[in-house]
Amino acid sequence: MKTIIEPFKIKSVEPIRFSTVAQREEILRRAWYNPFLIHADDVMIDLLTDSGTSAMSAKQWSGIMDGDESYAGSRSFYRFERTVRELTGFTHIIPVHQGRAAEKILFSIVGGRGKWIPSNTHFDTTRANIEASGAEAVDLLPAAGMQPRLRADFKGNIDLEALESFLRDKGPAAVPLVMITVTNNSGGGQPVSMANIREASRIAHSYGIPFFIDACRFAENAYFIKLREKAYAGRSVQEISREMFSYADGCTMSAKKDALVNMGGFLAMNDGDLAVRARNLLIVTEGFPTYGGLAGRDLEAIAQGLEEVVDEDYLKYRVRSVEYLAEKIISKGVPIVEPPGGHAIYIDAKAFLPEVPPHEYPGQAVVCELFRVGGVRSVEIGSVMFGKYDAHGILIPPPMELVRLAIPRRVYTQSHIDYVAEVILETFERRNQLRGYRIIEESPVLRHFTAKFAPLH
Ligand SMILES: *Cc1c(COP(=O)(O)O)cnc(C)c1O
Repeated sequence: MKTIIEPFKIKSVEPIRFSTVAQREEILRRAWYNPFLIHADDVMIDLLTDSGTSAMSAKQWSGIMDGDESYAGSRSFYRFERTVRELTGFTHIIPVHQGRAAEKILFSIVGGRGKWIPSNTHFDTTRANIEASGAEAVDLLPAAGMQPRLRADFKGNIDLEALESFLRDKGPAAVPLVMITVTNNSGGGQPVSMANIREASRIAHSYGIPFFIDACRFAENAYFIKLREKAYAGRSVQEISREMFSYADGCTMSAKKDALVNMGGFLAMNDGDLAVRARNLLIVTEGFPTYGGLAGRDLEAIAQGLEEVVDEDYLKYRVRSVEYLAEKIISKGVPIVEPPGGHAIYIDAKAFLPEVPPHEYPGQAVVCELFRVGGVRSVEIGSVMFGKYDAHGILIPPPMELVRLAIPRRVYTQSHIDYVAEVILETFERRNQLRGYRIIEESPVLRHFTAKFAPLH
């Protein structure tokens, strides 16, 4: 088999500023050992997130020039609406400035005190918007989804038995909707099978409860279904996506992921009454329903991006480039969440640094060393991000200590990825010399964004 090459050529480039180890030690010190406080110009390979970091195509950029900026009834809105409708089959398409704005509108309407929203795993902004409404967000991930080294095809699936008994227990009046996140971002970017989506939808509907998809990475999920679920091997990603959406009553979407743009999103649904209420809120918080917090040019770029993302040569390259990095480091013994997901590699920091206990933040130690060794920026997903304190101020760690290296779409080439593998392997070789960190300043919520750290000696 020949090398799977990038299915694009590069027309416009951005320089990367190289730095030395000594310079990066100084950069880390000035940023209080927190990757969020490093200036992006000081990063060589930026794997902090795949959100809003995609490279747009020449056609998307020409759409930016061609965008219609009319306040009402913009031509770009109608193109966007037609594209999303054809892709998802939903009746009402409501543009918003990013995914969390769709969540805010949806849960302001259906959430509230005494309500419960189950999902495979809620993304953190989804959970925050549900909780802000007064409702409870519930994750129903099977135990297999939390075992880093267990290889299974669809580790993002929702636990169907748990869903059934949850709905039986709470009753339809307390559960305004059931959600499923594809791929399961917080669960390692793992896909959800069509069988699982179909069955979760059937269970929700048997209680008269609507079923919604958090569709941020629908195309990556659809491609995994094509690769791993036998009945779908011969179907196009477009057909598979359409079938996934056909089981749902609506979706939320961050266009910063699988719509290949830097900003945007939408909320879609079939229920006309819900759509009226959503549009009324949209007008107050986002804008008129034919632009909803975006410029006409953004809608044009999203429509074009949604057409490009279902291209199977693109998806083959996308999934392969993540898997390629995974294979290179697994073969040398680096512990990661297996199999790799669609958009990121997750290093298992507990296994990588067994000597560093959770309260010394092993994930943060790996993040800092990856930057020191090679200027690669990643993010800790463990005790820094999700740790809580008990009444005595003792850290309650989450089940896993992970380091995420998210791969931006169409941005880096194979040699960049080879370089990242080298940096990870060098860090792995030096693992016995790594020390933990302590937090010297933190905020009460979402502390990972602003916390200051100091190395332990
Ligand atoms: C990014 C993301 C969101 C939120 O979208 P934003 O555009 O960042 O507001 C919601 N759900 C999932 C699964 C995501 O990955």
